[in-house]
Amino acid sequence: QKVEWAKLKTEHSVSADGKNFVVGANIGAPKDMEAVLDNGAEGVGLYRTEFLYMESDHMPTEDEQFEAYKAVLEKMVGKPVTVRTMDIGGDKHLSYWKLPEEENPFLGYRAIRISLDQDEIFRTQLRALIRASAFGNLWIMFPMVATLTEFQQAKAIYEEERAKLADQGVPMGDIKLGIMIEIPAAAVMADQFAKEVDFFSIGTNDLIGYTMAADRGNDRVSYLYQPYNPAILRLINTVIQAAHVEGKFVAMCGEMAGDSIAIPLLVGMGLDEFSMSAPSILQTRSLIKKLETESLKHLVQKALALQTNDQVKELVEAELGDKI
Ligand code: PEP
Ligand code: MG
Repeated sequence: QKVEWAKLKTEHSVSADGKNFVVGANIGAPKDMEAVLDNGAEGVGLYRTEFLYMESDHMPTEDEQFEAYKAVLEKMVGKPVTVRTMDIGGDKHLSYWKLPEEENPFLGYRAIRISLDQDEIFRTQLRALIRASAFGNLWIMFPMVATLTEFQQAKAIYEEERAKLADQGVPMGDIKLGIMIEIPAAAVMADQFAKEVDFFSIGTNDLIGYTMAADRGNDRVSYLYQPYNPAILRLINTVIQAAHVEGKFVAMCGEMAGDSIAIPLLVGMGLDEFSMSAPSILQTRSLIKKLETESLKHLVQKALALQTNDQVKELVEAELGDKI
């Protein structure tokens, strides 16, 4: 099978009935680009920039960040690169920047909440990104957005920094601005967000955890971490349809995007991009090439009407057993 998959490296991810999808890669640093190119990614769907901060012994400077972002954009030669602004907090700590101890770090001070509160750090990152945008096809997204106001505030800060750099004559490219959908409130309000953003990227790792109120790292409750639970599928379907009503692009960058049970359902819902760790890309492309999008729309309707995670899994296995 691996030999068959390797042949797909230079191909596009097109379903059996001719619909195009993007299969992209998740990365944490420019050094990950070798695997991205080796596996024929059609984009970088998630660049987790917090690793730049975590692997440094000081707050990364604007120039250090610029070099990292530019390196990734140049390697992708015009293919889209989605960079997520720093998602610090929760379980991600920095030695040189002490954040307050919290009783509930996963419901606390993290990601866009820190960026909006301590905006100098955020502005530095945005300037580095805007400067790097001259070297490729850059999409920027904000993590852990819960409200429209947060997106509007982040966008306003971005526009200010962009205007200042433009005044200085700094070269820059077109940039798309989007959000991660990983907090249930944002998923529920997707129709409103879709009017304001350029794209969504669904972060199922957190979205499932917050929707089921279960930590998959906790053995006693990890059984509740159910990607195929119709509650999760309904939420994801709502987000995809809401984006498409406004003609907006929807990616998924959580682990579910590379899950062979979930992929046929996501193709049926019309998800535009699947982003995953590089070693899963060719297998996913191979699966997409076998799928018929029209018949999967019916499969989605059946799945959304089921009661449990296991029932959905059995349905997909029964209907697509030979392909997945
Ligand atoms: C997610 O939450 O699904 C996601 C992609 O972000 P992270 O795994 O970095 O929290
Ligand atoms: Mg997340």
